[in-house]
Amino acid sequence: MTVFTCTNCEHRLTNDLREAQAAPPGDVLFDHRIADPAVAQGTYAINHDATRFILHPDDVPGTALHPDSGRSVGCCGLDGQDGPNLVCSRCGTDVATKQSDCWTDNLIALIAVTVVGSTEPA
Ligand SMILES: [Zn+2]
Ligand SMILES: [Zn+2]
Repeated sequence: MTVFTCTNCEHRLTNDLREAQAAPPGDVLFDHRIADPAVAQGTYAINHDATRFILHPDDVPGTALHPDSGRSVGCCGLDGQDGPNLVCSRCGTDVATKQSDCWTDNLIALIAVTVVGSTEPA
């Protein structure tokens, strides 16, 4: 299992996760319906260029919303188009972008350079 912690302060950001494959992106219809989560709860996927870890929206208990409300823009949720909108809840470093709007994916994208993944045998 893998746990991601903040590079800056070593605060634990996520639940215990196992690696999974990302589902292929589905068609996003503009119908004001929030998409199904991109990955199952308890799993994470690595994006195509390894700069992001894709997590379920409920797997990041160690993060907090960015204090700049300009980062938390969206229609039905957060669109994640204005920069990272989740920070480490201890030190405030930008660590992830949450997308949960009706026209975006529904996921957490952890920024790979801001987190450390530690793997323990299951
Ligand atoms: Zn909407
Ligand atoms: Zn931190």
